Amino acid sequence: MSKQQVVTCKECGKRRVKALTTNPITGKQRRSTIKICQDCHSKTIDYKFFSSSFGQWLRRAFQRQCTNSIPSDTNELRALLHLWKFYRQACGFKSDGQEVTKTYDYHLCHIDPIKGEGELVGKLTYSNLMIAPAKLNREHSNLPFPFTSKQSVLKGENITDSNFKDICRERYDLPLLAAEFCLIPQKKGGALTEFTSSGVNISTTLSKELKRLGYPVTQTIANHPPQTIERLANGVYDTFFKVGGTLALKELAQHGTQCDNSMIEYDFTLPHERVKMAKETRKQLEKEIAAF
Ligand SMILES: [Zn+2]
Repeated sequence: MSKQQVVTCKECGKRRVKALTTNPITGKQRRSTIKICQDCHSKTIDYKFFSSSFGQWLRRAFQRQCTNSIPSDTNELRALLHLWKFYRQACGFKSDGQEVTKTYDYHLCHIDPIKGEGELVGKLTYSNLMIAPAKLNREHSNLPFPFTSKQSVLKGENITDSNFKDICRERYDLPLLAAEFCLIPQKKGGALTEFTSSGVNISTTLSKELKRLGYPVTQTIANHPPQTIERLANGVYDTFFKVGGTLALKELAQHGTQCDNSMIEYDFTLPHERVKMAKETRKQLEKEIAAF
């Protein structure tokens, strides 16, 4: 290995060798591109995760949970991250540069409620959450799911601002998740950019969610006036939370029409995979252009 150049670390100001960094996905090692020493690098390695929108959402969400009811490992947290992204897509966001508003008012609702009977806590996991209209969440807030889905656990240790990061570091591979989902630090106090995303309507979200939770869905509620669609879809959601998924599915079949599978299936491609594919397509295109 060649002799390492000594630089001034931009974090601690000490004259040191640049940190050796490991790509969390490929495992490849290389010298950091920025002037940072190994000690400071180790401290900031999960910075991207914690300062991302998801990291900030997770901190608030964990404070309502406990050590027993949060994802148990990296795979469970990855599933929750996928669901959180689907939730954001479903809401749709509009920003005029000043304010961000949702197109659809959804919540990530607990199926087994957070505050269950006695000391039970509903888990914050992929299979115990459902993207549903916010209005419904307020009405059902602590109603236990009828055929208790066994997604509640006995209360564990509280999670606070002081133990949040340590609990996460201990359980999850945070740099890996940050790389897979291309998580980036959320800008603080900076001007908002203008953007619009359309969101996903309630009948499509309903079918997608039932399917994601394992029910054999092949239909969506369509072919009615918009207000009727909304009322019927809300009715099915209501049945789901009050009576259960099997009856909700029956009710959906009564009002629904067959739809293409691609319409109600989620895309689990990791953002970093998508970026890689886009790069490859561009490279291919450049080659083809160069060939002329
Ligand atoms: Zn340093």
